[in-house]
Parts: sequence; C-alpha cells; structure tokens
Amino acid sequence: MAYNGNGNRRAILWADATENDWNDWKWQVKNRITTPDQLKAIIDITPEEEAGIVKARGRLSMAITPYWSMLMDPDSPNCPIRKQVVPSADEFYIDPTDMLDPCGEDKDSPVSNLVHRYPDRVLLLATDQCASYCRHCTRRRMVGTKERIITNGKLEKAYEYIKSNRKIRDVLISGGDPFMLDDDKLEHILKTLREIPHVELLRIGTRAPVALPMRVTPELVTMLKRYAPIWISLHFNHPREITREVKAACDMLADNGLVLGSQTVLLKGINDKPYIMKRLMHELVKIRVRPYYIYQCDPVRGTSHLRAPVAAGINIMEKLRGHTSGYAVPTYVIDAPGGGGKIPVAPNYMLAQSKDAFTLKNFRGELYTYKEPKDKTVPKQQSISSGDKHVSQTA
Ligand SMILES: *Cc1c(COP(=O)(O)O)cnc(C)c1O
Repeated sequence: MAYNGNGNRRAILWADATENDWNDWKWQVKNRITTPDQLKAIIDITPEEEAGIVKARGRLSMAITPYWSMLMDPDSPNCPIRKQVVPSADEFYIDPTDMLDPCGEDKDSPVSNLVHRYPDRVLLLATDQCASYCRHCTRRRMVGTKERIITNGKLEKAYEYIKSNRKIRDVLISGGDPFMLDDDKLEHILKTLREIPHVELLRIGTRAPVALPMRVTPELVTMLKRYAPIWISLHFNHPREITREVKAACDMLADNGLVLGSQTVLLKGINDKPYIMKRLMHELVKIRVRPYYIYQCDPVRGTSHLRAPVAAGINIMEKLRGHTSGYAVPTYVIDAPGGGGKIPVAPNYMLAQSKDAFTLKNFRGELYTYKEPKDKTVPKQQSISSGDKHVSQTA
C-alpha cells in the first residue's frame, strides 16, 4: 500500500496495535520501519531516499520507531525529522575529508568498549544498538550493523581497567544507546561502576527519551535513582522533537533527580539557522534540559551532505550569547579529527589585549575596555592563605 496523503497514517501500518502496544517501548522497537515498502505506506519517498535505504542495508541500516515516523512530514523530503533517519543516496558519496573514525576513538581505546582520552573520565560503549539510527552518527563504523547483544562478560576488561585507574572519577556510558538495554542489564553496569570507590560521577548518553520516549518508564527511573548522582546527556536536534510524550519523559527523569543536558549536532538543512537553534534551546530549558554542547558534525564517512560550515555554527553562537538566557547557550565544539578531543569554537569577543587592558566586543558589537590595576599584588588583609582557609572550611 502506498501513502496517498489521506487518513490516519498510524492505522495504515499498525492497524492492530492497541494503545498499550503503542506505548510499550519493546513493541516500538519490534515494529521499527526498516524497508522502503513500509516507509512508502506512510510517506511519499523520493528515488534518492529509496536508493539510500537499499544501499544502507547491513551498514548503518535504516530503523525508525513508529513513534518517530509519525513526526515526519509525509510530503517533504526536507523535513528535519525525516532527514535525520531516512538514508539518502548522498550517503554513498565519499568526500576527500571523510574519515572512518573521525574522533580517533579506536586509537585511545586501551581495552575493548572503552575510550580513555581525558585524564579523569572515560567513555564506555555499552551496546551497538539504538532506537533509530541517525544518519549523522559519529560511530557508524561500529553501530547498528550487527545489532548483537554485548554480554556482561564483554565489559569485564573495561571494569577492570576503570577499577585499576584511580584517576577515573567520571564514567560516561554510551554506545549505541544504553537505554536500549533491558533495565536489569543497565542496572548491572551502573551497580558495577557504583561499587568502584573512585568513580564519583555516572553519566549516560542516550537519545531514547527523544526517539522512543516510552522507554522512560517508572521502573527505569526508580532503578536509575538508586545509583545517583547520574547526569544524562540527551540528543536533540530540532524543536519539533519536543512533543508532549518527550516532555513527559523528561519530566519523569528530572522529577526523580536525574540531571538532564542536551547535545546537539549542527546539521545542514536541519538546524543550521539561528532562529531554529534558538527556538530549540528555549524549548529545552522549558523542559529542564540544559543545552550542553553544539557539535560541529564530525567528518564521518558519507555525511558531507549533512555538514554545515563552521561559520554557520559561529554565527549561531553569536546570535545566542547575550541575546537569550545564559542557560540556553551551550558550548559549540569541534571534536578534533584524529583524536584531539573537544575544542571550543566561539565568536571572537576579545579584539585586543595588552599588558593590563583588554578590548572586548559585547553582544551588540560595541567595544569596551577592561583594565587591570597596575599593581597586581594582593593587599595584606586578603592574603591568599586566609583565602585558602576559607575555602578549606567550606569544602
Ligand atoms: C566527549 C567525551 C567525553 C566527555 O567529555 P566532557 O567534555 O566531559 O563532556 C569523554 N571521553 C570521550 C572520549 C569523549 O569523546
């Protein structure tokens, strides 16, 4: 059956699904759209999309949750929701700047499933599965191809590594999407990490609350709460992603003390306009999600058609800082190709710097000077040691 622009699209493919089915995350995962024929039933696909879907199979295959599919514009291939998940023939153009492992994660991987780049924190890749596969995925070299379950045993070496490195105080659990694991599997990971005395902070990187909001169940949240403090990095790219269901999922997480941030990827034709990015940031703070990073799209193989210029990112930052709430302004970063880590990129606000004067440009483009006192020695009554005493008393 082909989409004809009429009627209840949900009923075309899932006529037998009850409301309970629809709201069951496992039903959603089982009923993901993976073939051109399924997609044709609910949207008017283009030849480029059809070619992309067929070619992507077995690499970063198409998988779209029924929930997400209902947010797609059936008539427009430029729909920002649709472009993030429907492969395009453009993915098979390889630009000379493309790389297989742009962030150089494999070279910083001391044991399987672990990336250790920064001194005090590591990235644990807990699964290779996601609810939906984003076409701009930075880990497309390893994600969504086999959809194999990573057994508990597979992470043993990673746990041992973290246990034996006392400098590691922060573990970021990502993948793939850790929320694709069953509650008990995810709990096993959290429990194992929580038992390591020097691990202070647990973080989870997930897009499930966005692509599959029914994954956020009371059972999941009750379990997570036991391993607090947990910070959760969500992945939002467009204001249309913030639906009633997503708000309810974020509310449940925030009400239970999970701290929410968002990572956004700057994507050409999706969110590369300042007014769209600003609206996204506003909608996020309204649902208690603090915008954390905007990423320049990594030069992953087959994504050059999705990469907006760095100048577009800098322009967006210039239109945010000062023009809206500071809490709605994330940090724009480039994850340095080759493995240099995240490097902030910002508009230039410091126009000149001399020994004791700084010429600064404010958000309106007006110039100001900040002058430092000539004698920079600290007066006796505010000596550094009495300051230290104060710090140690409160710490
Ligand atoms: C992004 C990232 C982190 C976390 O970085 P923060 O700036 O602390 O959020 C840790 N390890 C790796 C390899 C990363 O790519």
